[in-house]
Amino acid sequence: MSPAIALWSSLLTVSATPADARTVALNVVCLAPSTAVVALVRWVEVVLPEVRAIWTREGVLVRAGAAPASTCDHTIVVRADAEAPADEAGEARALGWAPIVAGHVRPVVYVRLGAIARLGATLGSDYRPLAALVAEKLLGRVVAHELGHILLDSTEHVRAGLMRERYRVRDVLVQAPAAYGLTPAQHDRLRQQLHRGDARDELAGPRVAVEQP
Ligand SMILES: [Zn+2]
Repeated sequence: MSPAIALWSSLLTVSATPADARTVALNVVCLAPSTAVVALVRWVEVVLPEVRAIWTREGVLVRAGAAPASTCDHTIVVRADAEAPADEAGEARALGWAPIVAGHVRPVVYVRLGAIARLGATLGSDYRPLAALVAEKLLGRVVAHELGHILLDSTEHVRAGLMRERYRVRDVLVQAPAAYGLTPAQHDRLRQQLHRGDARDELAGPRVAVEQP
């Protein structure tokens, strides 16, 4: 079996482990990607499952944006970088970001699809058949990270786990979604934030960024 096939197999067998989910009332987050995003990536087949694999462990159910709004506790829009208005533009090196207004993170995620796709292509010729798949999984992790900023309403980064500051494309090959968890303190904050409900209004300001390697 070639390394590429073995890798493919390991990627496909990575899954969420709900039994390991920590205790938080199950909250439903609906992700609504823009037309520009779904035109360029396999959103339903690859990206959304990657986001879901990370957040199910935290007791948050991530659903497709097409779900009826009444079934969503939170609806978060995912847009391409080119769709960001001037006052919500991200840093050039950011793979993804969520705008902040008056100290709160807005429920909008911007993703730099071109940069993420190029990172997939840097893996080398042995991985070329997997470049798009790896890039889409990296995109899912970037979206999951920005979702963390939004749900935690925090710009904080830590050294490891979901809220690490730097996302490397090669990590997709060697780290399962389980390596992208919250710290106990972040999980406590998540529980507090989710119990506060949707009282926050949308806001604007500095940027939260996931940097390229
Ligand atoms: Zn961040």
